[in-house]
Amino acid sequence: MADIAAKVLVVGGGPGGYVAAIRAGQLGLDTVLVEQGGRGGGLGGTCLNVGCIPSKAIIHAAQAYHHAVEQAASAPFGLRVEHPAIDFARTVEWKDGIVGRLTGGVGTLLKRHNVKIVQGHAEMVDGKTCKVDTDTGPQVIRAEHVVLATGSVPAPLSTLPFGGKVISSTEALALTMVPERLVVVGAGYIGLELGTAFAKLGAKVTIVEAEERILPSYDVELTRPVAKRLRALGVEVLLKTRAAGLATDGNAVLVEEEGGGKHSLPADRILVATGRRARLDDCGLDRLDLSMNGRFLAVDERCATSMRNVWAVGDITGEPMLAHRAMAQAVVVAETIAGQRRVFDSAVIPAVCFTDPEIVTVGLSPEAARQAGREIKTASFPFQANGRALTLRAEEGFVRVTARADNHLVLGIAAVGAGVSELASAFGLALEMGARLEDIAGTIHAHPTLGEAFHEASLRALGEALHI
Ligand code: FAD
Repeated sequence: MADIAAKVLVVGGGPGGYVAAIRAGQLGLDTVLVEQGGRGGGLGGTCLNVGCIPSKAIIHAAQAYHHAVEQAASAPFGLRVEHPAIDFARTVEWKDGIVGRLTGGVGTLLKRHNVKIVQGHAEMVDGKTCKVDTDTGPQVIRAEHVVLATGSVPAPLSTLPFGGKVISSTEALALTMVPERLVVVGAGYIGLELGTAFAKLGAKVTIVEAEERILPSYDVELTRPVAKRLRALGVEVLLKTRAAGLATDGNAVLVEEEGGGKHSLPADRILVATGRRARLDDCGLDRLDLSMNGRFLAVDERCATSMRNVWAVGDITGEPMLAHRAMAQAVVVAETIAGQRRVFDSAVIPAVCFTDPEIVTVGLSPEAARQAGREIKTASFPFQANGRALTLRAEEGFVRVTARADNHLVLGIAAVGAGVSELASAFGLALEMGARLEDIAGTIHAHPTLGEAFHEASLRALGEALHI
């Protein structure tokens, strides 16, 4: 096969890789993208195939079913539902249909922007060349610039290696039946999102977490409503408890409490969701001279690695491992290669947990702002006092705004509540535009919407709240 020569070679077709390739194509750069496909891969990467999108589809279906079950039990607003049932095979088909539409769309967009797609596993030979193992034989690609975007994979637990009943989020999202008893190891966002969904679908779910609370990277005020909801759903949460292994018959997880107590939890599936690791080991990166930042590739503010014209974006460059961060880095890299002066600013990266209720955070928490030496003003507005929340039967939660005490520059915004993920854009925009409390207070927010709680939290921080 003749070698391919290009200006830009992108390795990996996830949100980091495909966005870098589309933007490079838009800018007229001759671009080749290599994607290996297979389990957990394919155009769209983890996000579209086995991450963001399929998980949100399952969460939505589970919520709809659970809602029907609740209505059948108590009909709070008079909706009569009898004998609700879910045909999970159809749910999976529907979820797969969404994945297919979106991944197909990525292929179309790449072609529209003249990106050449090579299917196969890429191994770097040097900083400008890779060899791809394609169905029709080895293909050598040479390029002036290389963008590494190989993403991440579920990290195994030494005590519970993947296989058999021990599954990662990838297999959890491919289940064709709802397990009767599901043990989830790890109460981070992936474990809680999937654990909650399967609980709503009828599984008996137990969550095992080594730390003393769920979602340990979020402040406790935000996680309290989620913990309350898990209790209401009958999900058992074992804190300060470690998974120690599989019972000899393979039908239970052995766990150890911090105090030394040991017991076993019967399980039909064990979802290990204790983190993800950068995929750096099987793509020839050892042949390059790349500096590391802990477990991740070190990059500067342009996403340049330690090798000239070798760039890296997405999960391989570290936390937060989120699709929108990967995409934002990707645009910076493509535009930099095209000769523009760009830097990636990580100050405003929203993070959303699609738990029940949802959590969204942008910028600093009050605690983090204080630790950074800031004098702050902070205020919350509860959804209990928000008309729209009441009409949605979603009065749990609040919006919280944190600002500098001296000039009222907003430093951080967070919310917990049903549907608050959709407020992430407004929060991000306020921070990105350098809003002060007065800017949010002076913005007319539509009524009745959940966003009014953002308005009122800002008014409250100024001592001018109207509805509380
Ligand atoms: P990836 O998406 O992992 O893509 C890397 C691609 O590179 C893969 O397709 C892989 O096949 C390919 N590849 C790797 N090595 C090679 C090679 N040598 N040759 C060729 N191809 C190769 N993020 C959010 O922002 N919001 C969410 O709601 C969210 N939910 C998630 C839910 C779950 C269950 C999971 C697992 C993740 C979720 N994420 C979410 C995280 C998100 O999926 C990742 O941050 C994002 O996909 C990272 O993009 P990436 O391009 O860096 O890597």
